[in-house]
Amino acid sequence: MPELPEVETIKNELLPHIVGRRVTDVTLFWEGIVRQPSVEEFYSRLIGQRLTGLARRGKYLIFSLTSGEVLIIHLRMTGSLLVGQDSSETPKYTRAIIHLDKDINIFFRDPRKFGVMRLVEDANSIIGKLGPEPLEAGFTPQVLAQRLDKRTAPLKALLCDQPCIAGIGNMYADEALFAARVHPLRQGGSLSSEEVKHLHRAIQQVLWSAIGNKGASTDTYFRPDGTLGTAHFQFQVAHRLGGELCSVCGTPIERIVVRNRGTYFCPHCQPLNTNRS
Ligand SMILES: [Zn+2]
Repeated sequence: MPELPEVETIKNELLPHIVGRRVTDVTLFWEGIVRQPSVEEFYSRLIGQRLTGLARRGKYLIFSLTSGEVLIIHLRMTGSLLVGQDSSETPKYTRAIIHLDKDINIFFRDPRKFGVMRLVEDANSIIGKLGPEPLEAGFTPQVLAQRLDKRTAPLKALLCDQPCIAGIGNMYADEALFAARVHPLRQGGSLSSEEVKHLHRAIQQVLWSAIGNKGASTDTYFRPDGTLGTAHFQFQVAHRLGGELCSVCGTPIERIVVRNRGTYFCPHCQPLNTNRS
């Protein structure tokens, strides 16, 4: 599933192709991809608009339009946005094409059809409940401590909880917890202030590193030009299936399920009982 580094990469690489371009047409191969408003309204309110900007918030892409409305795209499990021309062959599993002037097409590819587009007047109606952005200056160790304070849920679940912190999902939660040497089942509120600092640094490190590597192509993620990201080559625990060894201590990586999420960790480097005394 695309997480913050993948969506940030898509935003960065799509931006130069689309800003200032006018939407000339929309093709929907799967109407369920339009969540809001009706398909008819979607066509009439989007076609003819110029795209004035593109931003990311959490895992959402936010396209601003001259009308003042915003087109919000969530790629969910398997979505990608690919850039091409009118002459390009439509990629397999394309559910929608946004046609722009100057012969630019955005192909919304989504094998499992969980991705959604919404056209709304107020972006906050969709993104208003998201927690802080982990790479913004305002996200300090103190802010993370406040988010975790008194929480009894396992850290893995809290890191993936979008109202708690925006943009992190399964892969980068596992990587951050490994980098911070914290067990995924530890309760949020149980961390010492030193551990919170380590976790804060680990979250920022793994996310920046993954953005530098243009995201992780473990599954169906592509960059807008159709190439793959390489962030998964740096993964220490995420997607390490079946007995691969920890690069730090040589212990087999374990997989557990935390609130329905497959979770990878090193039982030696990330002990559950910290025996602090
Ligand atoms: Zn280890």
